[in-house]
Amino acid sequence: MAEAAHSRVPLRPEIKALPEYVPGARPEPGVKVHRLASNENPYPPLPSVAAELAEELVGINRYPDMGNADLLGALADFLNAQADHGITSANLAVGTGSVGVLGHILQAVVGPGDEVIYPWRSFEAYPIVVDIVGGRSVRVPLIDGYTDLDGLVAAVTDRTRVLIVCTPNNPTGTAVTHSDLVRLIGQVPPEVLVLVDEAYLEFVRGDDPVRALALVDEFPNVVILRTFSKAYGLAGLRVGYAIGHPEVMAGVRATVTPFGVSSLAGRAGVLSLGARDELMTRVDGLVAERDRVVAALAKQGWQLPETQANFVWFDLGEESLAFAKAAGEAGILVRPFAGDGVRVSIGDSENNDALLSFTRQWLAGR
Ligand SMILES: *Cc1c(COP(=O)(O)O)cnc(C)c1O
Repeated sequence: MAEAAHSRVPLRPEIKALPEYVPGARPEPGVKVHRLASNENPYPPLPSVAAELAEELVGINRYPDMGNADLLGALADFLNAQADHGITSANLAVGTGSVGVLGHILQAVVGPGDEVIYPWRSFEAYPIVVDIVGGRSVRVPLIDGYTDLDGLVAAVTDRTRVLIVCTPNNPTGTAVTHSDLVRLIGQVPPEVLVLVDEAYLEFVRGDDPVRALALVDEFPNVVILRTFSKAYGLAGLRVGYAIGHPEVMAGVRATVTPFGVSSLAGRAGVLSLGARDELMTRVDGLVAERDRVVAALAKQGWQLPETQANFVWFDLGEESLAFAKAAGEAGILVRPFAGDGVRVSIGDSENNDALLSFTRQWLAGR
């Protein structure tokens, strides 16, 4: 290749200016650390799921089913299991993680200069996917770590196409209630797509939790975003989905990458829905660990926003990077946001004990 020659291919200005997605730190090869930087599930796949995936592996010379019929069917059955909401594959779209689906939703409804409103700080993929489609981000600051629902409504203009509510919010962990969300949707014009990102839904134990399917039943402008990456422990396979009105979802499906969900990912999704009870027992264990960690941190003197997710948020401001560096030196990988705070995932009890002893030392040395 021509060395040091510049390419004269002009990139779109939005792409040149994209903020970088900063992934959670990864361990050096062979070094054992506590991996609490990316909100992953600490548990490996269930042996039953892993064994069936191994069988699927021998078929990977073939393309997956383009329509992901098995996964969509399994999702519809799962979503109608509690009460028949009449969800069919027409209400669904799947993609390469819920970040992939999010990108497709924006491609379907956001054009150049259109506005996408979201709380901030929130999931760091939001500004990136908005910029990629040429949209304009409108960020509404959190209030002490909590989503400002009135602020989100007040930010709506006639250029607004999408309003995102992330609940529980990454990285602060706070959740909105069903009643508050219904009130918000009632104040937003029906042309604005309200996107509810429920990546951490399975960890929510608070009062009046969001009932996503009731929202989809009632409001044709609501889309729910979910993932197999967190509670289901499939982050490495990349599969997520959205639920919404058939006309909106047809537009989303029209934009998806053909064969984006691999045969392994699709099969893993089906198997995980089949093993849901076993997986949710693990989630219960993580929630119990979360409650233990939160209580222990409060006892140490920390004041944290109330988390409903599998992580906690330390509002450390200018100390954030120093905290993360010291944690790293103590063998704990965490996710700092410079000048703002540090997000730490809930791991297994050994991981969490390491965190608690680190935070105690940190406070003592401060
Ligand atoms: C982790 C996360 C996701 C999930 O991303 P995947 O692409 O499904 O792995 C989506 N939204 C939020 C807010 C998250 O934190």
